[in-house]
Amino acid sequence: METRGEITKAVRAALRSEVGGLPPAPAAAVKLLSLTRDEGTEVAAISRLIETEPALAVKVLQIVNSAYYGFPRRIQSIHRAVTLLGLSTVRQAALQILFYEKMIRRGGKGAFDRLHFWQHSLLVAILGREMAERLGHPDPDALYAAGLLHDLGKVILESHGRVRYSDFLTASAHSLNSMRENERIYFGVTHDVVGAVICERWELPELVCRVQSLHHRDLIDVGLTTQQAQEVAIVALADFIAWTQGIGSVDRFNRPDLSPDVLKLIALDQIDLSDILERADAEITEIGTFYGLAFPPSPQLRANLVATALSLCQGASGDAAPPMSGQRASHVAPHRSLDPDDFIPLTLEALHRDFGIERLLMMRIDSKRRSLVATHVYPVIPGFATGAPLELTINALSGELVRCLRERRPVLIREPAGNGRVLAILGVAEAAAVPVMCNGRLMGVLWVGGRRNGGQFDLAPLPEVMSVAGELGIALERSLAFARERARAEIDALTQLNNRGAVDRFLTQSFQQVSQFGRRFAVGLIDIDHFKRFNDTFGHQAGDDVLRIVADTMRGLTRPSDFLGRYGGEEFLFVLVDARRRGALAFAERIRREIESRGLVLAERFPGQALTVSLGVAMWEDPNQGSDEVVAAADAALYRAKGTGRNRVVSAWSEHEPETDGIRVDT
Ligand code: GH3
Ligand code: MG
Ligand code: MG
Repeated sequence: METRGEITKAVRAALRSEVGGLPPAPAAAVKLLSLTRDEGTEVAAISRLIETEPALAVKVLQIVNSAYYGFPRRIQSIHRAVTLLGLSTVRQAALQILFYEKMIRRGGKGAFDRLHFWQHSLLVAILGREMAERLGHPDPDALYAAGLLHDLGKVILESHGRVRYSDFLTASAHSLNSMRENERIYFGVTHDVVGAVICERWELPELVCRVQSLHHRDLIDVGLTTQQAQEVAIVALADFIAWTQGIGSVDRFNRPDLSPDVLKLIALDQIDLSDILERADAEITEIGTFYGLAFPPSPQLRANLVATALSLCQGASGDAAPPMSGQRASHVAPHRSLDPDDFIPLTLEALHRDFGIERLLMMRIDSKRRSLVATHVYPVIPGFATGAPLELTINALSGELVRCLRERRPVLIREPAGNGRVLAILGVAEAAAVPVMCNGRLMGVLWVGGRRNGGQFDLAPLPEVMSVAGELGIALERSLAFARERARAEIDALTQLNNRGAVDRFLTQSFQQVSQFGRRFAVGLIDIDHFKRFNDTFGHQAGDDVLRIVADTMRGLTRPSDFLGRYGGEEFLFVLVDARRRGALAFAERIRREIESRGLVLAERFPGQALTVSLGVAMWEDPNQGSDEVVAAADAALYRAKGTGRNRVVSAWSEHEPETDGIRVDT
């Protein structure tokens, strides 16, 4: 366990050096948090406080005079506003405003979407308060505050980190590690620790500090009282629920770490999730309207998503959550397994049963091929997806289907042009195409055609089908994550790239492609410059972090059809399929440049030690060449790159040597 001093040191190291640069404690917010719920004594105090903050005063007067409350006369005095609205409402509104004004509104553009983050914080605050209330907590408002501020550390890192949170998000976008794991790699410390240290410095209430530091941790047997543990559990669960609704703290697939202890501390059947979510939805919408902000879209919040996500995250792979009462089978079918070949047919069948839809067709996005591929049809046609599957190239689409994909909404398709084969398979003259999405990402298209008595398409069940499509999108995303887990055996644990075994297997398979089919590949070796110095100067752990950063950067530049692996200690290998010399060199140069610039972002974390790489590139186009020869050629080029100053790309071929056209001529 790290000592307190070490933790403070790590946090200080993660923040920019000027001590005066630490965010000044928003005095009003701190004061506000320290006021108790005792109505009688506090109205005067809270009014005085609000009067000292112009932004606050204006908002409170706006709230009390809004149509929502409908008081017959204009309220002019803050004191009167506080009395009328009640302390709890005013405290919450004031906290929102302070958090928004001080933390969210000002701030540059970047991958850290402050509006989205604010919406997340509000949702966690509201869910926390509602849960606390139902669990009989003495001060639900306190949970509101703790929920609102639970991810404060992220805002602090965004505004004051040596590495900006936005830059961190961009840099780690392609990483497969958990978010906190990556935070540790990039900042040396995680957001919850940063938040806790800052909260203590600001002397915020203990509950707020505790929730900061523990909301991703184990809660049982760590010396908390039952109530304390439950308070943290409430916020952790609220955080998780927000994520299931697509309103995570950052717009990313990674789910928050949820300790199994949380569900031991909160009896889910004691809180009416549907009711809580309904209230939260209304409140969030209301707040957005009040601030005149267009929040990122939050679909109607749904309890069954929470139930299924919870059961899946606890490792159930067979039967998912039992259907919630009143839930149609089609809503839960997508979550009954982690295998799309199980749950897609189940869902189509259930849609038929629940809504009498006669014909259904599922197409999934194939991002490598940039196309939609038909995978399942109802009623089942044997061998449908094998052989020559029905495939629509996205760039070649036209008409209404393009609108469906671009605007992410269902369209009715009548024109046979381009869609003739789909309509023919469905055996209908018209059909609805419903986009299948997850967290704003298009996963596929569900075609819905024909009602029981034939004739024209019946639009009636479309809203239900759309919500089932939403479940389907989430299930597909989960199944991808699951497949990724399974692929781990081939994956290097440190960098999450293909490991040496996978590299060798890939090279062996590629040999056939080159020798028999005359394809040409480019093979590159990448070696970190003076990597030993990172280990020696900053420790082995920092060295590991550098390896991961380099790996993530390269992953971000590599197309899905290309291959990337960890070849040795600090050496990586790429293979570009069907590449030409110029393209291969350009790719290698992009990697070099991108890592150099990432090194600049990290300059303060690794002072005096530039992060650069050297690359050697060879073409594999000679059918008689084995993979070891090509790798040796790339290695020789890499050696020359090292010898001529590092941080450069060297090719195995000479510029005067003409590139062959790839046509084999037997001599
Ligand atoms: P050059 O620019 O010539 O490549 O210099 P270098 O220091 O990068 O190369 P050298 O081969 O001398 O050192 C590589 C070091 O990488 C030695 C080894 O201890 C370290 N290393 C290998 N695997 C790992 C790892 O998984 N983690 C860490 N932290 N270090 C590793
Ligand atoms: Mg967090
Ligand atoms: Mg090296």
